Formats: sequence, structure tokens, C-alpha cells
Amino acid sequence: MREVVDGVFELGIGYVHVHLVVTDDGVVLVDTGLPGKSARIGRALHDIRRTIGDVTTVLLTHHHPDHTGGLAEVRRRSGARVVAHRDDVPYVTGEAQVVTRHPVVRLVGLIMGRAEPAPVDEVVTVDGFSPLPGFTALHTPGHTPGHLSYLLDRSGGVLFAGDAAAGKRGGRIGSTPKMVSVDLDAQHRSVERLAGLDFDHAVFGHGPAVTGRAVDAFRTYVSAGR
Ligand SMILES: [Zn+2]
Ligand SMILES: [Zn+2]
Repeated sequence: MREVVDGVFELGIGYVHVHLVVTDDGVVLVDTGLPGKSARIGRALHDIRRTIGDVTTVLLTHHHPDHTGGLAEVRRRSGARVVAHRDDVPYVTGEAQVVTRHPVVRLVGLIMGRAEPAPVDEVVTVDGFSPLPGFTALHTPGHTPGHLSYLLDRSGGVLFAGDAAAGKRGGRIGSTPKMVSVDLDAQHRSVERLAGLDFDHAVFGHGPAVTGRAVDAFRTYVSAGR
């Protein structure tokens, strides 16, 4: 685990990241990693001298099982409040299931396993909603219908981009695998929108964080077209 910027930690669980944000009011998790791996989150909390009981809020970027795999367990053990966008909530709670025909996506899903369904405590319906002090939830659909990115007002701005985009080597950004997006045009518009904001740092579900003028990496990506 590494500290990306002050109090923002990046934990890799397999190929996906969980982010831990230490605030004055407990620990905020952005996503919860792969199914069956939530003990890794407990160990990471221990490393920063916190416990699972210190987790007050889980901010979900989207419903995919590599991001919600530890959710039910974390919520049970911490009592944390879970925040997600309305359009992804039915997939988190298990009311709806994704039907995918793409053979590679199906295979990956089989290997990864399903996330245990979990309740969502705070359903985001408004773009720009603040789920807790310092955080703004931005509706960035495309990868999933209810994908949220979160902007944290700290250290010049920290964007939690989820799978709206992916970190690439050399401080660049790119797309997440196109075959797992429900709407590529919407996803591109979401990245354009993020490029119009201002933030110094960006972290992703997949790929390395960008630190220092991270918004420029978004602008470069958008200006290069698809
Ligand atoms: Zn995803
Ligand atoms: Zn992902």
C-alpha cells in the first residue's frame, strides 16, 4: 500500500485498487476490491493504525464485482454507510443482474466470482452531491450507467476516477477495456467532462495514479480523440 497524497492510500488487491482516505471523522473507503479479499482491507487499516470499525463511509464508484467484492463484509463489520448512484444500486443490492454475452467478459466474471449483494444506505440521484464534507460525487456514466467519480478537496484536488478512465505508465491516462463498457460514447463524454475540471491528482480502479497536474493527462487524452 502506498500513500498517494496526504492521507490518501492506494491498496492493490490483485489488479484492482481500493482507496483509503483518512479524515477527521474516520476512514472513507472508495470501493472494496475483489470478492473474498476483504481481509486485505483489514490488514491495510492495521498498517495505518486504524481498524475496520473506523470505516465510516464506503463510496462506490460502480457496481462491478472487482469494486464491490468486499462490500457486504466491510459493511457488516464496520456499520459504514454505503453510497452509490441510483442507476447502479440494483446491481449492488442484487435486485438486478448483468447479462453479458461477450465470451471474454463472461470468462472473467466466472474467474472473479460474484460479489455478495449488500444494501446501499445513501442513493445518489443528483450530480454534484456531497456525500460527506470535502467530497463531491460526479455522475460519470458510460462504463456503467451509474458510475460515479469522486473529487476530494485536498492537496490541490484528488479525483477518484474509478473505471471512468484508467491510469497508464508515464503519467498518462487511457480507457478501461472497451468490452466492459455499456456506453462508450457516454464514457468519452464523462472523461471530457472530467478534463474540464481542475485537480492535481487522480487515482483509478486500474493502473497507476497520476500525481501533479493530473487534469492535464485527461486533457491530453481527450484532445487526442478516440
Ligand atoms: Zn468496472
Ligand atoms: Zn474495475
